[in-house]
Amino acid sequence: MLDLSHARDRMVDIHVSRRGIHDRNILEAMRQVPREVFVAPGYEEFPYEDGPLPIAEGQTISQPYIVAFMIEMAELGAGDQVLEVGTGSGYAAAVMSRIVERVYTIERHAGLAETARQRFEELGYDNIEVRTGDGTKGWPDAAPFDAIVVAAGGPGAPLALQEQLDVGGRLVIPVGDEPHDQRLLKVTRTGAATYSEEDFGGVRFVPLIGEQGWPENGSRSK
Ligand code: SAM
Repeated sequence: MLDLSHARDRMVDIHVSRRGIHDRNILEAMRQVPREVFVAPGYEEFPYEDGPLPIAEGQTISQPYIVAFMIEMAELGAGDQVLEVGTGSGYAAAVMSRIVERVYTIERHAGLAETARQRFEELGYDNIEVRTGDGTKGWPDAAPFDAIVVAAGGPGAPLALQEQLDVGGRLVIPVGDEPHDQRLLKVTRTGAATYSEEDFGGVRFVPLIGEQGWPENGSRSK
């Protein structure tokens, strides 16, 4: 296989580190994970550009900088149990798996989940569990989580996800009144029934579709 480590280092230096991500664990994880394995056929030339790329099912692999930014917001630690909603290509889960103890990742499209599972297996990343389903309901049997990272934008922070945070746990989620236009929120569980919220600015993610997200036709979920 072609050695792309130089391109990967360049991506991390220029698009991630110089733009303000300084957490060494994130930078090191992004230098390790071969992003070229996670892009769709036909896009092999572009894995180290700073942009989202199309994947199957009309979805996207997120821009490297935003992956790093969300992981930094989630303040991941070595012993953490992390839930990701929106596996997509599997790239962000792979990066997080190099930092924490275990990553649980849920994807609503079975084909994407299966492809990601195969990629993790081929790379020997054995601390990632993949499930097909509606991630707005979380993963109750693996809760509580130290961090939950949602890679799609919903109308609000799903209650199920807030309730599956450990006390001190962080939920990072794009939230907005329109399915494609959101603010990046960090919700921290400060006590048994108390939460604090911080706003990290405007973003554009694909919609979070599910029981506590948007319905398939794009208007607000009841
Ligand atoms: N983290 C991904 C990566 O590194 O490639 C990018 C994810 S993409 C921006 C968002 C993903 O969220 C899509 O694959 C979409 O199918 C998925 N998604 C949307 N709503 C979901 C839900 N309720 N449960 C699980 N996955 C969902």
